[in-house]
Amino acid sequence: MECKVCLNSDANPSIKISDNGLCSICEIYRTNFNRSSLEEEKEFFESFIGNGKKYDIMAGISGGKDSSAMLYTLKKMGFKPLAFTFDIGYYPMHEFSRARAVAKTLGVDYEVIDIRKYLNRNDVNAYRRTAELYSKRCSHELSEEFRRIYLDERRYYSIKSSSSLPVVRTCQLCRRAVIRGYYSEAKKRKIPLVALAINEWAGLSQDYHDKRGYVFSSMRRLKPSIKEGPVHVVHVPFMLRRKLSETRQILKKIGWNLPQGEELIESNSNSCLFARAAETKATRLLGFHPDTPRISREITVGFITKEQGRGALNKIHRSKYSVGSVLSMAKII
Ligand SMILES: [Zn+2]
Repeated sequence: MECKVCLNSDANPSIKISDNGLCSICEIYRTNFNRSSLEEEKEFFESFIGNGKKYDIMAGISGGKDSSAMLYTLKKMGFKPLAFTFDIGYYPMHEFSRARAVAKTLGVDYEVIDIRKYLNRNDVNAYRRTAELYSKRCSHELSEEFRRIYLDERRYYSIKSSSSLPVVRTCQLCRRAVIRGYYSEAKKRKIPLVALAINEWAGLSQDYHDKRGYVFSSMRRLKPSIKEGPVHVVHVPFMLRRKLSETRQILKKIGWNLPQGEELIESNSNSCLFARAAETKATRLLGFHPDTPRISREITVGFITKEQGRGALNKIHRSKYSVGSVLSMAKII
């Protein structure tokens, strides 16, 4: 059974659909989403504008629709952004040239930052074992193994995790380097904010339940050391409660065109060769697309429609490479 709002269904072993037809995420969102807490976060965010330094915010961009529109908005708000794209070796090369072109159009400085230095030995072992997992031949047993790992890997979600176990969801590994990278790269440049163009809440999916109850926050506060100040990572479209129609208007204004062969709403496989190499097998063995929860959150918050999300998940991208060869070309394993 599928949630009546989003695309989560009980094909996913971590999802339950209630009697009212809603998945647990939509249910919690409906009863706990609080617009005024987002307005407070926006005020806090705006308090960083214009610190007298060269840059007051780092803005992660891919050259895609959401981050291009976000960069425009940050400038409009009065920020002086430094735009950047992380490089982990398996993002398609065109992403960097597109991102650079968008930054140039908007008159924003741009850097490509290699984040492979943030991977430790356990992470590399996890990558290696993930490549081994994905090289196995499809079978009923492998399907059970994928579903078991899918459920288990949620426990190793923290970037502090020292797990070297294989994963089914490729983003689980990437985020370890990415989140460490946000903190360290922002600290290195003495910039307190990192803006991301993700239109969903920033709380971690399984532990957004804090003392105040369920809080759908647009900010994640990174503070790994007591001695050092925090870095705030902000999901800007969610904070602004952006609609796809506004994004479209901005893109028109800045002359952004949809690249040939791409759809406006895409799963991660469009922008990540690791996710692309894993997509077909993961979808077949899990019985649902591994990006379903992520795309569903964009539907839950009202950024895209259910049909737009379904279209993105139904598009399976052809990968020229296996998971193992993508990771070895990226010089990770
Ligand atoms: Zn739902």
